[in-house]
Amino acid sequence: MTEFVLGSYRLEVDVEATRAWYGRYGNATGGCGCAYCRNYAAAVGVLPPEAAAFLEPLGLNLRRPGDIGEYGPRQGGRWYMPMWHIAGRLLEAGEGELPVAPGVTAGFATDMGPFLRNFPEPCFQCWLSMTLPWVLEEPADEAADDRDDEVKTLDRRTEP
Ligand SMILES: [Zn+2]
Repeated sequence: MTEFVLGSYRLEVDVEATRAWYGRYGNATGGCGCAYCRNYAAAVGVLPPEAAAFLEPLGLNLRRPGDIGEYGPRQGGRWYMPMWHIAGRLLEAGEGELPVAPGVTAGFATDMGPFLRNFPEPCFQCWLSMTLPWVLEEPADEAADDRDDEVKTLDRRTEP
């Protein structure tokens, strides 16, 4: 276990177990093929390098989230909140968002789903908040007709 103090958050992380799970199961879209997840995979490279560097010591990869939340238009792009499960414990739940890079903030929680197949227990979650451009040829609004991302992700991660 490795202890991290990030702002007012204090974490105890099994970095190797976390990294091993994502190495085995993670991919750029969290197992979901919807337009929002494909756009995340295509656009996330525009973020400053600090975003990936924040996650890396925790055993997490910006391109391999456990789940991707998308919350509509913001600042000329789309508002995304990807999340990752982390093996270990949230020792102190801080308050507010941690600044990670210009336009990117982070936080930790213990109650964010979906819960992932074979993920080591105990675990908690890390989320990032960011605005990404829409880079797919297909329009975002059409993709909104088929919004069952969470169910798809949950299904793919929980079935054996
Ligand atoms: Zn999706």
